[in-house]
Amino acid sequence: MSWTVVGQDAAVHVLTAAVKNDRVAHAYLFAGPGHVGKSLAAMQFAQLLNCAAEGPDAPCGECRSCEKIASGKHPDIEMVGIGGQCEDTDHPDHSKDNSRDIRICQVRRLERVISRAPYEGKRRVVIIEPAHALNGAMMNPDVTAAPVAALLKTLEEPPDGVVFLLVTDQEEMMPATIRSRARRVGFAGQPRDLIEVTLRTRWGAEPDDAAELARLAGGRLGWAVAALRDEKLLTSRATVLDKCETLAQSTITDRFAAASTLGSAYSRNRADTQATFELWQEWWRDILLIAAGREQQVVNVDRLDTLRPLAAQCAVPAAVRALKAIADARQQLIENASPTLTLESMMLALPVLRANAVTSRLRR
Ligand SMILES: [Zn+2]
Ligand SMILES: [Zn+2]
Repeated sequence: MSWTVVGQDAAVHVLTAAVKNDRVAHAYLFAGPGHVGKSLAAMQFAQLLNCAAEGPDAPCGECRSCEKIASGKHPDIEMVGIGGQCEDTDHPDHSKDNSRDIRICQVRRLERVISRAPYEGKRRVVIIEPAHALNGAMMNPDVTAAPVAALLKTLEEPPDGVVFLLVTDQEEMMPATIRSRARRVGFAGQPRDLIEVTLRTRWGAEPDDAAELARLAGGRLGWAVAALRDEKLLTSRATVLDKCETLAQSTITDRFAAASTLGSAYSRNRADTQATFELWQEWWRDILLIAAGREQQVVNVDRLDTLRPLAAQCAVPAAVRALKAIADARQQLIENASPTLTLESMMLALPVLRANAVTSRLRR
């Protein structure tokens, strides 16, 4: 079988060479945009490290170890993410308590797990995803720093046979203390042609669907595959972009109302709200591209009819300001700023793309 992750040859090459040359690092940072294959690559690297086959056939995907890892049942593969169980008896199951970060108790549990030798594998592999969620544990003022210090020391010098895979699409949010302890493996977006071909050949998409999804995917094969399987994804994308279009033309009253709604949505579900802003950034990037005369690079090609007249009212620097405002807001939210205040100032910074008396008075 060997690797099935698509379009990440550079990363696969680095990881395969490390095993071949017996130079596997203690910790790797899998960094790059979301939905481009980082999680799959982490799983397959865990398979490679434990596969019964060797050489170009590994990971074979068929041996007992590969199968157990693929089905999430290998006792030596430890997944750490937001939520999940810890060993503190007075704690609830954190997957049901609205956890937003990886908790310090999960880090403590991890320390205990890796201190034991692997049960049956060659190596114990710890996959931390999203790794930037470690910030919660790192910055928690309520607990002693001991578990954090222990994690940092472990990353530097894990027990024999332990490999850490830190997976993140927000690398810049990772503390330098953690980043510096891991070897970086970069993942890039996949080319549109490759996404289109893969959708047709591997996922059985009709040619027209494959072409459209590949265009909308913005270099993210994983998103295209998910949208192919679940039409709801395209519908919710449409809802988010409709709102973005409306807001770009709205008065400040409507924008503040939206800021308040989005602020409470963020308190309930951080990931969904961040995904919304990702789409907004794409939309404003399209405005920028059209304003700059590079319409052929637009991602939301199905929306050109509404993008064009709005871009005609938007100077390039204004579109750049909009992109910066959204990026800044996303960053501040991650750093735990007040959601409503953050989103209100973002709304103020977004240009108003409709020339009428009310909006032009508010334009700064
Ligand atoms: Zn295998
Ligand atoms: Zn706990």
